[in-house]
Amino acid sequence: MGDYPQLEININHLIHNTKVIKEKCEEFGITVTGVFKGISGDLKVAEAFLKGGLTSLASSRLEQIEAARNAKLEAYMILIRIPMISEAYDVVRLSDCSLQSEIEVIKELNKEAEKQHKVHDIILMADVGDLREGYWDYDELDDVAYYIENNLKNIHLKGVGTNVGCYGSVAATKETLEKLISIAENVERRIGRKLEIISGGASSSLLRIWDKDMPSRINHLRVGEAIILPQDLEWHYGYDMSEMYKDCFRLKAEVIEVKNKPSHPVGTLSVDAFGHTPTYIDRGIRKRMLLGLGRADYSMLEELLPMDEGLELIGASSDHTICDIENAKKEYKVGDIVEFDMNYAILLFVSNSKNVKVKYLI
Ligand SMILES: *Cc1c(COP(=O)(O)O)cnc(C)c1O
Repeated sequence: MGDYPQLEININHLIHNTKVIKEKCEEFGITVTGVFKGISGDLKVAEAFLKGGLTSLASSRLEQIEAARNAKLEAYMILIRIPMISEAYDVVRLSDCSLQSEIEVIKELNKEAEKQHKVHDIILMADVGDLREGYWDYDELDDVAYYIENNLKNIHLKGVGTNVGCYGSVAATKETLEKLISIAENVERRIGRKLEIISGGASSSLLRIWDKDMPSRINHLRVGEAIILPQDLEWHYGYDMSEMYKDCFRLKAEVIEVKNKPSHPVGTLSVDAFGHTPTYIDRGIRKRMLLGLGRADYSMLEELLPMDEGLELIGASSDHTICDIENAKKEYKVGDIVEFDMNYAILLFVSNSKNVKVKYLI
């Protein structure tokens, strides 16, 4: 099998980015957990997070945590998707800590932890408005915390946390994070001790560090995107990320056909590969090329970012990508390699595609 399509991963640049994020957060008394679900659990990337100085790793998928354990990555492992109750055995077996929002699940974990002679750490999630996981009724959260503290011997309530910017597009503002702190302080009053962790979110919460208005009791963040794709913080929020490498990942595809063809299909139009009939604009005969990768690899054509800005992506089926190269910077020929930058969604799909070969630059 050949080398393409290929996802090239620059490990040294990832290590550098990890150090930058770690040091910035340290100035604010914040510990960072490296989230490696965005690259589909790639172990070399997880290892780069550790080489960059992080000591804990997190994923939404137990399979990825298991692979990291099997690879002997020495880290405190956090499961960051609220687990299925059916996963209780593996949650305790594989992770040191998990995010939680349902008492039935926590009770099940307690039973499992007892069987496995372990104490499992948990972080109770509060929903502060993004409306994905977490307690919406904060009195209920208090009651659950009190119950765990006094009844579940094999569960240790390590802290409370929240997640924003995932479903509801809610920003991690100072006010939103202060709401989490007040929820945490109510729990502390109820259980009569300080919580070790107040986990203030993901990459989007780093903006509070950049703006130097992070509420002081937030002492933990779970960060993936900002380390792997710092350019996302520039694109989405307009922050200057020039201290970090923005070329940690490149998608490379091979040119399989170059021809002049009409821009409007010829014949009676019916449906395309996915059952749709798009509108086609007739721009006359155009120079175009085909690449040997397709929607099976990256799903969303619109989000691919060609490094050659003159290259126009005009369509794709499962295994082909069609580019208009009339205004391309380069004179393409069969066998050439075309490079793409990518956003979080594309990186997630591409790294999860069995067809895409991963090449590490060490
Ligand atoms: C995905 C996820 C993160 C990490 O998000 P990034 O945007 O990659 O930093 C943190 N916490 C939870 C609960 C998540 O699901």
